Amino acid sequence: MEKAEKVLFADKRLQVPDEPIIPFIEGDGTGPDIWRAAVRVMDHAVQLCWKGQRRIVWKEVLAGEKAHQQTGTYLPEETIEAFMDYRIGIKGPLTTPVGEGFRSLNVTLRQRLDLYACVRPIRYFPGVPSPVKEPDKVNMVVFRENTEDVYAGLELQAETDKAHQLLDYLTKEFGWRIRPDSGLGIKPVSRTGSRRLIKAAMDFAIQHNRKSITLVHKGNIQKFTEGAFRNWGYELAKEIYPEKIVSWGELQGDLPKDKILIKDTIADIFFQQALTRPEEFDIIATMNLNGDYISDALAAQVGGIGMAPGGNINYENGYALFEATHGTAPKYAGLDKVNPSSLILSGAMMFDYMGWGEAARCIEKGLERSFASKKVTYDLARLMDDAQEVSCSEFAEIICENMES
Ligand code: NAP
Repeated sequence: MEKAEKVLFADKRLQVPDEPIIPFIEGDGTGPDIWRAAVRVMDHAVQLCWKGQRRIVWKEVLAGEKAHQQTGTYLPEETIEAFMDYRIGIKGPLTTPVGEGFRSLNVTLRQRLDLYACVRPIRYFPGVPSPVKEPDKVNMVVFRENTEDVYAGLELQAETDKAHQLLDYLTKEFGWRIRPDSGLGIKPVSRTGSRRLIKAAMDFAIQHNRKSITLVHKGNIQKFTEGAFRNWGYELAKEIYPEKIVSWGELQGDLPKDKILIKDTIADIFFQQALTRPEEFDIIATMNLNGDYISDALAAQVGGIGMAPGGNINYENGYALFEATHGTAPKYAGLDKVNPSSLILSGAMMFDYMGWGEAARCIEKGLERSFASKKVTYDLARLMDDAQEVSCSEFAEIICENMES
């Protein structure tokens, strides 16, 4: 009997029924190919774990080109309402049409739903080709602030009336000498925004028994934005988890087993150390632009630029949207060719978030065995010795078989 229900959020906790309704956006370009593969793997994992006691009731919502064709708009209001109503969703990649005045659909979704934490776990799967010697030493989760920083979109084009107006004001009131033909952007970094993001990273570290949290910033130069982010992070640790989280300064001797270390690193040095000593980093908390660079660089390190999963989450109201982190790869659209792992692993992240961790482990196991078998999609096959190239849908079947064995 149909007993599909909404995911609820009460007393700061998600309440997930056995048959939750989950809205999805298929995505543009290769989106439909990877969506078909991902839904096959996700449904199979749930079936294997709970033999019909639990299942996902998928509900398609529109965005991107499909929405434009059917409704005349790229992001219908009903889509945003559905994500609010059903609370948890998942999406394929969306095209951002190039042109003035067109806002990225992804950024719009994150801002409208106030999904302030962009969470990107980065780990290595044995067998996946990587450009570094010891990719298995990378095991980090990046918490990137999603709503502020230069991504807030507060920009003025050079040599417009508004830019001149602001420049005049800055010169008169602050004595700031900025070239008159400059474009201008504002970089807001608030205490509220920083604290809620860093708290999400701390809570995750505590719940998952992780060892350290690193605040990555350019506070040596940008003192009142990035530097303030760092200071607010240390302040928050002292204020809410004084027994659990210790900073370098407070540490005497080795880190006790039940404690978590909080430290900070300047962003450029972080990039060096993440390459040379990745085992020293665990949970990363950072602002929007740093987080963008860091999550892609780390994904490349484990060979997984087309495989990295992502989730955009508001831990205060439970809203969450999981997504493939690569783009639409339009030249491969409809060819059943590309690697669906990013969306599949985002599905595993979604299951973890829902408290359905068994299904997430099942998916990871299926993927691990599939990479080891060297029957993989073109992107991995071209970098592996003796690999057999399979299509996107064949790869999904191989993952399902490998979950069972
Ligand atoms: P892209 O779609 O990520 O593709 C760049 C290249 O990455 C592809 O040509 C392909 O490399 C590789 N690739 C991407 N996805 C892959 C997959 N699933 N499996 C294997 N290889 C994969 O980046 P783009 O061409 O810059 O962007 C295209 C469109 O996507 C743009 O409209 C952009 O705005 C949008 N976009 C959306 C999102 C999102 O929705 N989250 C994110 C980024 C970009 P090879 O050519 O070497 O095979």
